[in-house]
Amino acid sequence: MAAITMKNIVKQYGDGFPAVNDVSLDVRDGEFMILVGPSGCGKSTLLRMIVGLEDITSGEMRIGEKVVNTVAPRRRNLSMVFQNYALYPHLTVYENIAFPLRLAKRSDEEVRRRVTETAKLLELTEHLERKPANLSGGQRQRVAMGRAIVRQADAFLFDEPLSNLDAKLRGQMRTEISRLQRRLGVTTVYVTHDQTEAMTLGDRVAVLRKGILQQVGSPRELYEQPVNLFVAGFIGSPSMNFLPASVDGTFLETPIGRFDLRDERKASAVGDRDVVLVGVRPEDFEDASLVSEDKRAAGALVRVHVDVTEWLGNEQYAYVPYEAPRELADQLRELSRELDSDQMRTQAVVSLDASSLITAGDEAELWINTSRLHIFDPATGENLT
Ligand code: ATP
Repeated sequence: MAAITMKNIVKQYGDGFPAVNDVSLDVRDGEFMILVGPSGCGKSTLLRMIVGLEDITSGEMRIGEKVVNTVAPRRRNLSMVFQNYALYPHLTVYENIAFPLRLAKRSDEEVRRRVTETAKLLELTEHLERKPANLSGGQRQRVAMGRAIVRQADAFLFDEPLSNLDAKLRGQMRTEISRLQRRLGVTTVYVTHDQTEAMTLGDRVAVLRKGILQQVGSPRELYEQPVNLFVAGFIGSPSMNFLPASVDGTFLETPIGRFDLRDERKASAVGDRDVVLVGVRPEDFEDASLVSEDKRAAGALVRVHVDVTEWLGNEQYAYVPYEAPRELADQLRELSRELDSDQMRTQAVVSLDASSLITAGDEAELWINTSRLHIFDPATGENLT
């Protein structure tokens, strides 16, 4: 096992902005690190530079103590699992898993022992004589993982390994990968564009945008203290609501209502700005009629028009349409496009308790937990709270 240390890593393909731009990131020995971000943010390029499939334009890449910038991929002792599994169709499951050991000219006895152990770990024992064509998607994925873990690599690298599976299987494989990684304790870097995978799998998550590292932290840190609008909007589902607000003393005038910030720390975060973006997670709203008197007084109340509701059994979503003020419309449009969500500029999403009786078409009173809201600078996107 080994730590992976990246220092000021740059990848420049052509004349445009760098695909990876000055990324410094330490993956600790035994850690499960997720690289996440929207399509084109540079996460696969970064992974490919770790493995050695892509040259590094500048910066330093270390595996353990050793600088590997110019070390050939097969000498880095890393195992990679690709999106498309890359199994050999003419070989049995046994031989697919055995492949790296055969390549390393291990004895038949060692191959048998290791393949048997690996197959047992991945519950593939019954399928060892089958060919990949006769396996389900999930089984194929397990064979690909088997091939990666059968030899004692210093680290595992995964490039969107679950993206070809259906949603149910993806959920199942997620827990399998998590369990396996914890059991083996091997340093792992895992690339995904899926924030749910990022939040559930990793010890820590590195969020990339346009080649630039935005924030590294535990899933909880990213969720509770996102450094900017981008991370705040990317992490969490449904996404955080960003409400444009004009500032009037400690009051904020938003498209869904005017309310008092109350919290002094939040008020001081606003500083002398005239306009801010207020970030409210869907679950930080509640149906005001279900909130106790004490709690009502500790937060803010707004009266809104709900135009659609979705009942999910254990909770429900209410949608509150609004129009963003013209001066912030362009910026919110840009953010919506990047985050692939229209929610940032046209509606607020509210998560309500399943017992709430608010229905589509209602004028409803909502309570906002102001102690949990975030204040963003609309010009820089920085989280001021
Ligand atoms: P995706 O999830 O879509 O694979 P990604 O976040 O993994 O995206 P990369 O594949 O690392 O992103 O690509 C980052 C940027 O570098 C993109 O703008 C991409 O077009 C560019 N890029 C990637 N590979 C090459 C290449 N071989 N030549 C030129 N440009 C490339």
